[in-house]
Amino acid sequence: MPIRRVAMVSLHTSPLDQPGTGDAGGMNVYVVELAKRLAERDVAVDVFTRATSSRLDPVVRLTDGVQVHHVVAGPFEGLSKAELPGQLCAFAREVLRSEAAHERGHYDVVHSHYWLSGQVGALARDRWAVPLVHSMHTMAKVKNQLLARGDAPEPVARVIGEEQVVAAADLLLANTAEEAKQLIELYDADPARVDVIHPGVDLDTFRPRPRAEARGRLGIAESAALLLFVGRLQPLKGPDVLVRAAAELLRADPTLRERLVVAVVGGPSGSGLERPEALVDLADSLGLREVVRFVPPVDRADLVDWYAAADVVVVPSYNESFGLVAVEAQAVGTPVVAAAVGGLPTAVADGRSGLVVAGHDPADYAAAIGRLLADQKLRERLSAGALEQASRFGWDVTAERTLQAYVDAAGAMRHDLAEPR
Ligand code: UDP
Repeated sequence: MPIRRVAMVSLHTSPLDQPGTGDAGGMNVYVVELAKRLAERDVAVDVFTRATSSRLDPVVRLTDGVQVHHVVAGPFEGLSKAELPGQLCAFAREVLRSEAAHERGHYDVVHSHYWLSGQVGALARDRWAVPLVHSMHTMAKVKNQLLARGDAPEPVARVIGEEQVVAAADLLLANTAEEAKQLIELYDADPARVDVIHPGVDLDTFRPRPRAEARGRLGIAESAALLLFVGRLQPLKGPDVLVRAAAELLRADPTLRERLVVAVVGGPSGSGLERPEALVDLADSLGLREVVRFVPPVDRADLVDWYAAADVVVVPSYNESFGLVAVEAQAVGTPVVAAAVGGLPTAVADGRSGLVVAGHDPADYAAAIGRLLADQKLRERLSAGALEQASRFGWDVTAERTLQAYVDAAGAMRHDLAEPR
């Protein structure tokens, strides 16, 4: 059965949001890139997201064939992610109404992102008799096993909600084989209904560019040793590990102080337990006020400059379902030092495109970063390896495989249409 129209549900965060702050991150990029590439393959995509401002038009065109629907469910402002379960019914009702305005059989598949959207997707699946394809993005049970210091555990209500979505989905898309294993072992997912599809990187945007020019545009000295963190500032992402590692590096080699720059690009996010200023305070307390530079979230074009300007991109996350930042940096030819968690060992080829570090001891990160800073040959070899590694992760492959997954899910579903799971 050909797939012509997809209802994509992204309840808690909009594909129109700037990634890298608040609740917007890799999932937003994922939805945008996948939707755009599906549209290029003649699949129309309607993305349903919760309206968070009265100024938003009800429907916004993202690109040809992709429309973002702003669903009014609850107050526009002031609702945290933790409060969103209370709006699920209102949101679902509006999505169902929107579809009902069309002729019957408007969508061929519903693809939901994150468990809140999965709850809505499960309802739409049964009502529309189309397959539910679901992407978890993060999982509470995994997150709770890997909590960073200061992070609050995910509530049991989310765990139960996720289990319901896993049971309802016709097909679960996992970012990596490890995520597939977690779905099967921790959530009791049927292995036959789990497909591994890697997310991607926009290889047209994220390409090498001359380092000196990028540094010139960013005001970074030619002689600087630039360590870069990119992402939402929350304990889970471990930006403090990099700041502490920088202090270790300076302890081992005080001469580095003249040229060490640690750039932290991104905005506050998450549980709110850690104030963003806590990172500033940490840098101050370690005597790194002049070394650490905080940069508010930037758009993709500027991000390429940051990746190109950096000597090393550091991804010290406590949990990472894939790690788009790691792939983007490599696509620009910059080696990555990443934590051995979640999708990062898949995204980064240890010893070939970067260095993968077990645990979160800042001394271990300092050792890996120090090795790279001291050895230009190693940096050049890993840079070449990084380009090769990133070339395996284009979004076109992701979209092609996802479209096939929709077709497979639709084919498999026909048999149990009468009995929604
Ligand atoms: N990002 C961005 N601007 C910023 C910081 C981050 O556009 O200032 C993007 C980044 O390019 C990446 C995404 O946010 O595509 C973060 O995705 P990742 O998978 O690394 O982390 P997540 O947010 O999913 O935890």
